[in-house]
Amino acid sequence: MEAKSIAIDGPAGAGKSTLARLAAKKYGYIYVDTGALYRTVGLYVMRKGVGSKDTEAVQRLLPEIKIEMRYDDNGVQRMILNGEDVTEEIRQPIASIYASDVSAMAPVRSFLLSMQREMAEKYNVIMDGRDIGTVVIPDAGLKIFLTADPAVRARRRYEELKAKNVETTYEEVLRDIEYRDKNDSTRSAAPLRPASDAVHIDTSGKSLEECLELIGKLAGERLGL
Ligand code: C5P
Repeated sequence: MEAKSIAIDGPAGAGKSTLARLAAKKYGYIYVDTGALYRTVGLYVMRKGVGSKDTEAVQRLLPEIKIEMRYDDNGVQRMILNGEDVTEEIRQPIASIYASDVSAMAPVRSFLLSMQREMAEKYNVIMDGRDIGTVVIPDAGLKIFLTADPAVRARRRYEELKAKNVETTYEEVLRDIEYRDKNDSTRSAAPLRPASDAVHIDTSGKSLEECLELIGKLAGERLGL
């Protein structure tokens, strides 16, 4: 299935999940949000009171973690951590910091890799993350690298969190985004970077419809969708 897959990478708030979700619906693909996997590991580490940068302690926790991904009737990906649905909890801003820190650890990345690859082998997927086109599905038929100005990304993410009644401020979201941008792109394990054959789309000044149209055109050309 990999050759039919769509990989979308880019920093937080570039529009990956919104666009991937809509495109998946349009083409009958399964949308896989891989950030949710890192967030779930981050949440477990946080709950255990282990430092988010303590690689050895985090590695010791990994055998205790069982993550399942389920899809509800609306096609929404639910994250199950050791039997508990943590889908909402992993969206808390503090979980994104933990996710970014633990995602820099090679043992955490390999722990989550097989799950992502299995999904891509079984189904036609649109998968979003940071290393999908470079590491997880290097054979994806279409690779997109989405970007946008940090201020635009922070504003979008802030509105999204506000709509979900998560307590935060624009400044806090901007700080979180800048922290994660730096962390994610400077780490040595699978850093955030575009695949050499990825199509770059800057979503800063574009509407959702314009972005969807662009992706639709590429999906038509590359995958015959
Ligand atoms: O996509 P989202 O913002 O939910 O991801 C949370 C964090 O998980 C990111 O900041 C990044 O550090 C990490 N991540 C990753 N590789 C992926 C997806 C997410 O390192 N494929």
